[in-house]
Amino acid sequence: VSFGDELVSREEKTRRVGGVFSSVASKYDLMNDLMSGGMHRLWKDRFVAKVAPRAGEHILDMAGGTGDIAFRMAKSGALVTVSDINADMLGVGMERAKKRGVEGLTWQVENAETLSFADASFDAYTIAFGIRNVTDIPSALREAHRVLKRGGRFYCLEFSTSEWPGFGEIYDRYSEHLIPKIGKAVANDEASYRYLVESIRRFPRMSAFKAMIEDAGFRSASVEPILGGLVAIHGGWKI
Ligand code: SAM
Repeated sequence: VSFGDELVSREEKTRRVGGVFSSVASKYDLMNDLMSGGMHRLWKDRFVAKVAPRAGEHILDMAGGTGDIAFRMAKSGALVTVSDINADMLGVGMERAKKRGVEGLTWQVENAETLSFADASFDAYTIAFGIRNVTDIPSALREAHRVLKRGGRFYCLEFSTSEWPGFGEIYDRYSEHLIPKIGKAVANDEASYRYLVESIRRFPRMSAFKAMIEDAGFRSASVEPILGGLVAIHGGWKI
């Protein structure tokens, strides 16, 4: 599989992605604001509105990192389990939760490809800006389907490719040149941000990813593009 421009084994990719997020964890939230000009907050609001969590529902926020999605969903009274392969990211999230006085969240280290949860455990599964970092995406989608109850919903927020003429090229130039520089200046870590840009570029197009969701067994798969598809919300139902 590829890691940036290099071909590496699956285990090596998973290990390196781990290194990237351990390295960026402490600066992760600040960098999101800088890189997106604060827009990631609006995308996350829109995503959670679409998930429409309800009080008492069990929701798994996969690749939940420092908790941005989980904090928003917990406001509804839903019972959210935040899982991530990286304990450093979850550690930052737990600190943030304590500071904000957010309660009722469960934090658990998990690899999206091989979940420890029983079948039919959750009403909803969310994954935001996480799936492109997963080495074996079809396995992660099958696991999402397995741990959902019948009638459960799957939602994914991820960078994709804008289909607005010219916009994709402008974004490519911005991300290729500026994001690694911001990474260097703020987090003293150019290589990790180069990886993040590269992983966005390699992620499948909206229609291809929708087909992967269907292949994992989901029905009525949908996609809602934001900024022409620079960012996309994909969904699917387990019936
Ligand atoms: N969802 C959070 C947000 O929107 O701010 C965090 C997104 S962050 C860009 C991506 C997260 O995916 C990281 O915390 C990383 O550790 C996690 N991740 C990468 N590979 C994973 C895997 N195989 N299983 C679970 N989490 C994974």
